[in-house]
Amino acid sequence: SGVGPTDINTVVADSLLLIEPKAARSGIELVRSFAPNLPMVKVDGERFKQVLINVLINASQAVDSDGEIRIRTFFDFADRTVRVSVADTGVGISPENIGKLFDPFFTTKDGGTGLGLSVADRLMASWGGKILVDSTLGQGSVFTLALPALEGDK
Ligand code: ADP
Ligand code: MG
Repeated sequence: SGVGPTDINTVVADSLLLIEPKAARSGIELVRSFAPNLPMVKVDGERFKQVLINVLINASQAVDSDGEIRIRTFFDFADRTVRVSVADTGVGISPENIGKLFDPFFTTKDGGTGLGLSVADRLMASWGGKILVDSTLGQGSVFTLALPALEGDK
């Protein structure tokens, strides 16, 4: 492992392979869309995969059996970041909880560790990126992972 130029579409595809069986068993539909020709990003690919898997597992725990998770990779021209968004049709997050999501040990689950998102937040920051959340209670949530594009000979 270690930090190096990484193709985000490959990491997303690898992560999806791991959660597909569980999603299929739960009747959750995974809808994916990959942008072609994305710039590379500079991350530890294995750790980034763990971040993404945690976000995907959170999404699958938030949706019902007729739910859907949409995974999309894209380039954001406004800040030149490569992004992955994970949108679920799940329970959503209340306004009072949304500010606590990234606190270590914050969980609303029986037996949850509350560590996934706090670790994700710190790792993303360590790579110069960020994790964003947008949610509507009762409708669903979108988690977006944004990383600076590696452009030119960096
Ligand atoms: P854990 O999964 O162990 O609870 P996380 O740090 O991964 O810890 O998530 C913290 C909390 O954020 C969860 O307990 C849940 O309340 C909320 N959360 C995270 N992702 C979602 C989601 N996709 N939909 C609704 N709530 C979520
Ligand atoms: Mg989690």
